[in-house]
Amino acid sequence: MRPINLVLLGPPGSGKGTQAELLRDELRFQHYSTGEVFRDHIKRKTTVGLEVEEYVISGRLVPDEVVLEVVNAFLAEHAGKPVVFDGFPRTIPQAEGLDQVLGGHDQNVDCAVLIDLSDEEVVKRLTSRRQCRKCRKIYNLYFMPPEVAGKCDECGGELYQRDDDKEETIRDRLGVYHSQTEPLVEFYQDKSVLERIPGEIGRDRVFTDLKQLIGTLSPDPDQEQPGI
Ligand code: AMP
Repeated sequence: MRPINLVLLGPPGSGKGTQAELLRDELRFQHYSTGEVFRDHIKRKTTVGLEVEEYVISGRLVPDEVVLEVVNAFLAEHAGKPVVFDGFPRTIPQAEGLDQVLGGHDQNVDCAVLIDLSDEEVVKRLTSRRQCRKCRKIYNLYFMPPEVAGKCDECGGELYQRDDDKEETIRDRLGVYHSQTEPLVEFYQDKSVLERIPGEIGRDRVFTDLKQLIGTLSPDPDQEQPGI
């Protein structure tokens, strides 16, 4: 089966990360989250980490050149495998940059899926989001609480609230999303690769719809994908 490059679009908290994890676990996609990459750099205090820390904490967008640099490095190693991009691209120049890099590997974005969600639902979801410090698994105090409060079901790690999941920062991030990332909907619509799934239908139904979509891009979504 040919490798698929899938872009997940949607406001923060629409479930892009969760869906990308499901695609990784069930369909063996490479999950590429620029947010996770940056948080990892910050934790390790690398040059990139020091450069992006203030942006990530305040919920502003990291400059396009820095983002494209880390994406380039990733694709140099992983192009040709099925990839789900989560939280990238977030601006038109990033989307153009992605097309260019993929083009260099004889590939393109096969599908961009918008997981749509209202601002109010985003705020409700994100203020109740928690993440494991150790294995990075994401929980939600409303929809997917851990079995023991404050502890990860998988590894027992401590659950914490990300600094950028505080309400004031969420409102800022939503503003950034509407002004800078939402234009990508039209960008991908113009390329006839845009699909929409309403985020309100919940994690499992969004995933069912996603799998169906992927099935239309490749003959058999359950088939093992080569190159991994
Ligand atoms: P996320 O985990 O995707 O919500 O990303 C967390 C933060 O990382 C964002 O609020 C931005 O500060 C930064 N970030 C992640 N991905 C990008 C991107 N593609 N472009 C610019 N900044 C990004």
